[in-house]
Amino acid sequence: RRRLDSRSIAAGLLGDIQTQISTDPLDSLYEITGELGRGKFAVVKRCVEKATGKVFAAKFLKKRRRGRDCRAEVVHEMAVLEVARNNPRVVNLHVAYETDHDIVLLMEYAAGGEIFDHCVSDELLPESQITRLIRQTLEGVHHLHQCGVVHLDLKPQNILLTNLSPLGDIKLVDFGLARRLGTAGELREILGTPEYVAPEILNYEPITTATDLWSVGVIAYMLVTGESPFAGDNKQETFLNVSQVNVDFSRETFSLVSELAVDFIRKLLVKVPEDRPSAADCMTHPWLWQHYPGTESLPPTPRTARERSGGGKWAAPPEDLEDK
Ligand code: ADP
Ligand code: MG
Repeated sequence: RRRLDSRSIAAGLLGDIQTQISTDPLDSLYEITGELGRGKFAVVKRCVEKATGKVFAAKFLKKRRRGRDCRAEVVHEMAVLEVARNNPRVVNLHVAYETDHDIVLLMEYAAGGEIFDHCVSDELLPESQITRLIRQTLEGVHHLHQCGVVHLDLKPQNILLTNLSPLGDIKLVDFGLARRLGTAGELREILGTPEYVAPEILNYEPITTATDLWSVGVIAYMLVTGESPFAGDNKQETFLNVSQVNVDFSRETFSLVSELAVDFIRKLLVKVPEDRPSAADCMTHPWLWQHYPGTESLPPTPRTARERSGGGKWAAPPEDLEDK
């Protein structure tokens, strides 16, 4: 068992891992075929196990960052994946390898890409699919919270899909900023992307599970509108938009969106963390069950409000939006 240094403990990092970090040569066991994504300190590549032909996603995490040994951060990311292990909404960690410069996490491969692609596309997903993806995201978030972990970096780039067509199930990834509940952590260091983080993070307040629920609100907003609710022209503007909860619910933006969706999002994008519903609370919101279970074999994205909502109860544009 590794012992954590005091700096790591102060930062709220987890130190216990069960997964062995193998020093066997990675290249001889796997064929590394292409890049899937890239962040500040990590590259994720698609790789195929030569012995079995099985496909994995290999996350190469730098052991040294800014001239400092960051092994503890990598071990922490592994430990969080292990804590949440065996939940179908959290990406599965298979094995880990160590090379000269990196620790490489071999994870379950999510072939459908990021849900981000469905937030910026001209063709938004039908609400019946969006509610299914949000339900699954909430299941994953609920599981993490039950395990005493907050993700703190939930955004459309960190929610992947098992398959693109037909649209598969979600997998939560990227536990680099995740923290154990009750640890204050070094908030200045763990600040996520301003567009997606809750006001309390910007104010360096303590971490609670409610922080993740804010992000779920942002993600739901983006999936139904195709727009990022707080994105400004620069970082300062974005910060201000978040801390003032300056968000556009105008009819123009929400013309094709059901009233229940707006209600769901409004309940999450609330400044005071204690006033946000929990993941379990959210699961009972009627929006999420509006189309359930009829999510199979859907027609292509409809163009009108009537078509998009399936022509049912919420077919007409909500009246209170109509008047404004
Ligand atoms: P970072 O900490 O650099 O953001 P992530 O873990 O979020 O690293 O991975 C970066 C990107 O790589 C993701 O946004 C996604 O596009 C891709 N990716 C990560 N994990 C997987 C996976 N298991 N399957 C497929 N793609 C993945
Ligand atoms: Mg990421």
